[in-house]
Amino acid sequence: MEGSSVKAERPTVEPAASDFPRLREFGGIWSPEAIEEIHEKADLGRYQIRGQATKRKDFPSFDDLVFVPSGLSRVALEGYRERCDTQVVIGEGRVKRPLVLERPIMIAGMSFGALSVNAKRALGMAATRCGISTCTGEGGMHPEERKYSSKLVYQYLPSRYGLTPYDLRKADMIEIVVSQGAKPGTGGILLGLKVSDEVAEMRTLPKGVDQRSPCRHPDWLGADDLPVKLEQLREATDYAIPISVKVGASRTYDDVRLAARGGVDAVVFDGAEAGTAASPKIQLDHAGVPTVAAVGEAAEALRDLGMKEEVKLIVGGGIKNGADAAKCIALGADAVYIGSAVIIALNCHRPLYVDDYARLGTTPYECCHCHTGLCPVGITTQLPKLVARLDPEEAADRVTNFLNAMTMEIQLFARSCGKKHVNDLDGNDLRALTHDISLMTGVPMVGLNGRVPAWRKF
Ligand code: SF4
Repeated sequence: MEGSSVKAERPTVEPAASDFPRLREFGGIWSPEAIEEIHEKADLGRYQIRGQATKRKDFPSFDDLVFVPSGLSRVALEGYRERCDTQVVIGEGRVKRPLVLERPIMIAGMSFGALSVNAKRALGMAATRCGISTCTGEGGMHPEERKYSSKLVYQYLPSRYGLTPYDLRKADMIEIVVSQGAKPGTGGILLGLKVSDEVAEMRTLPKGVDQRSPCRHPDWLGADDLPVKLEQLREATDYAIPISVKVGASRTYDDVRLAARGGVDAVVFDGAEAGTAASPKIQLDHAGVPTVAAVGEAAEALRDLGMKEEVKLIVGGGIKNGADAAKCIALGADAVYIGSAVIIALNCHRPLYVDDYARLGTTPYECCHCHTGLCPVGITTQLPKLVARLDPEEAADRVTNFLNAMTMEIQLFARSCGKKHVNDLDGNDLRALTHDISLMTGVPMVGLNGRVPAWRKF
């Protein structure tokens, strides 16, 4: 009608849910996991702590490299009749009692406290059978670990928990820990349930109280203090055993140079995929450099100093099989450190006691609850009932089998590339599957027949 207006009618009832078009999209930065994480922080008022390693899937990895074994241009070694040696010696010609490893593998530092005594016994037994070393981790040298490990690396950490001059002299190598790959720049965490009577006594801490270790050495303000510390430790151990320094991979080239010039016998570096029994989750996922990207940098630092033969390079962080280890060696490592892999060989994630995984709110294969002290399979716990679930003899057999298989895998790649010693593998035995990995490692790309040559000297 002219001159009049019609007002739109407002609905008088609430619309039904079915009136809205379906609009339901997951993804982007607000994934269900990101939202759940915010809800948890909103409920708890603190960041989350968990065990194991980063669960990021976008890190570059050793899987992006492949070996280019022998053909007409190279001759492979015959598996049954031709030797492929594996021995690595740390400190040769530098100390009275070098550390002789029969294989280029070492078991990484994991403390008594983080691990149960049965896990420590099993790792010691397996390492001894394979002629390789185990490592105390933080918190001192447990007598059972010393008893079962023929080659024991003693960690010297900022906390000095359990450190005694008597134990220093019982060690086969000392490892000065500056930082670790899972949580570089921060100290260790041991939640109260794992601080049992024995752990508390070894660390001279109160029982049952959460423990956080310092992030740097109290008497150490910079790299200039390393030679002083080394001299003190060499004197305390009668110049008999090698000393290494361990750093989490960050500014790897500079750190390795400083350590080597400081006078160590070996540099240990730990990539960002390294595991732990407890770390802030955010630190696991957002700090440090992935192992594959750092190993070439570390080797290059030693080559540039002319110390590649003299100072050994030990690399850890997410090494899961002989292929990873062989690639790491080809990129310049002398030996690899493995931690998570041997924990899994012990029985971690094995679908036993499934109800106990469920009580922790998890399942085998996704469990990362080492920090709780309630490990269903008796590895990362101090509760006697749970510790008893890990039979040290059986667990040592599993770890020995795993170490044997891993050693054979490393030799398999070395033989197929025509190398008489696994440490003769080098970057020319590798090709990169992606431009990114080629750029990071200096290894030539596949399929380009050397038109994108290796930029790094191996
Ligand atoms: S099974 Fe035990 S060692 Fe393995 S992730 Fe779970 S709590 Fe840790």
